[in-house]
Amino acid sequence: MSKKVRVRFAPSPTGPLHMGGVRTALYNYLFAKANNGDFILRIEDTDQTRYVPGAEEYISEALKWCGIIPVESPWIGGQYGPYRQSDRKSMYRAYADQLLESGHAYYAFDTPEELNEMRERMKAAGVAAPQYNAITRSTMKNSVSLSEDEVAKRLELGEPYVIRVKIPRNEEIKLKDEIRGWVVVHSANIDDKVLFKSDGMPTYHLANIVDDYLMKITHVIRGEEWLPSAPLHVLLYRFFGWDEPSFAHLPLILKPDGNGKLSKRDGDRLGFPVFPLQWKDPKTGEVSSGYREKGYYPEAFINALAFLGWNPGTEKELFTLEELCEAFTLERVGKAGAKYDADKTKWFNQQYLRGKTNGSLVREFTEILKGENIDDKGVDLKQVVGLMKERATFVSDMLEGRYLFEKPATYDEKTIKKKWKEQSAEITTNLIFELDKIEDFTSDNIERSFKAFLDTKSLGFGAVLPIYRVFVTGLGMGPSMFAISALIGKAETITRLETGLNAMNGR
Ligand code: GLU
Repeated sequence: MSKKVRVRFAPSPTGPLHMGGVRTALYNYLFAKANNGDFILRIEDTDQTRYVPGAEEYISEALKWCGIIPVESPWIGGQYGPYRQSDRKSMYRAYADQLLESGHAYYAFDTPEELNEMRERMKAAGVAAPQYNAITRSTMKNSVSLSEDEVAKRLELGEPYVIRVKIPRNEEIKLKDEIRGWVVVHSANIDDKVLFKSDGMPTYHLANIVDDYLMKITHVIRGEEWLPSAPLHVLLYRFFGWDEPSFAHLPLILKPDGNGKLSKRDGDRLGFPVFPLQWKDPKTGEVSSGYREKGYYPEAFINALAFLGWNPGTEKELFTLEELCEAFTLERVGKAGAKYDADKTKWFNQQYLRGKTNGSLVREFTEILKGENIDDKGVDLKQVVGLMKERATFVSDMLEGRYLFEKPATYDEKTIKKKWKEQSAEITTNLIFELDKIEDFTSDNIERSFKAFLDTKSLGFGAVLPIYRVFVTGLGMGPSMFAISALIGKAETITRLETGLNAMNGR
């Protein structure tokens, strides 16, 4: 029987979750669901110096908003807990000891000054990137270079030390990445990383491997930036004598212009959020915008994210989370970085907005009207959202239709300049007369009368409609004027046309 698939998302609470992080969580979640597996969340907070208050809560809320719900987490619990590394602190030392005993790790007593000296020495000797490794190890103060007695003495005196992994000098490390295929790295390119720090905490590398093992993780799916660490992780699995999980390193999300990784600065520069939710930096008070607060639907955000690195191999673009769960495979994740396209994310939002029922749009729009202190004056909001929906990317775009509740305060000057002609006053007066004759003031009836009016007077749309629109709405463009007029009613339509006429007379 094959093992139950278990994957994890393992963020460090060092700030808000970047959309790249959300995508990693999403792909893990989809992979779990597609394989009847478990998706778990683990908080990797071994580096206490980088801990940012509020970041954990942010991660939890962001995933909840996206519908990416783990089956085990620090907040839900589970049989492999605790799920926060600082709460597992006492577990790691035994594993470091195991490596010390098997000779795959050693104590190192070097002070920061001594480490610096070594680097300077190596640089002077022409080594561009000096490392603590099989070559320099013997020149440093550690349990490989020092005598057993010396080591015992130092330990007894309580001298601070770290535990480093002993990377073999000359070995090819091969690992199979599910997305990239075989990756081969020579051990000479890996340094003797610290596994256990002098503060009694494991480093990321040790904690990550131990936890993946103890939590029975079968597939490690994470960002490409972790690929350089993967050979070390493979070695650690071997040193422990554990089966290694499968690895899949996801392509980067790239800036829309240029080649680098998408950063917060690109978002600020080009005007889109890079975070799922708004974030206020607890230290500086700086606020970074979020997709949620900008009015994006989580379905749209998730759909857009899914396509940044994966594609279904068909033309279909709109996928609910459930559909993504069914369609997702790692085989269809590409190696190349995916350029972020902010307009495409907007397009997804527009599609989801169009798919909403008018009832649910009314609920959202009502909140927005309240926030803007706009009284709907009893206008039928179902019809309003029905009318505005085709032109909106966000529900807040429907505020463009505030003329449905309020008289226009100004007129679009461009329209006036272009369309107000000598005969316009007379045409508008006649139009008022025609509109006033309509008994049942419905959109269809208004349209019919309007067209008949154009016919009898031998006028084109362009001579009448723009002025009609600008007097009633204040704007140069918008949805059907017949529908707008029907919504605000005959009396209001006529009053606005008359107000427009008077305003032009006064010019
Ligand atoms: N804690 C790491 C991070 O912040 C996790 C990397 C991994 O998934 O192994 O991304």
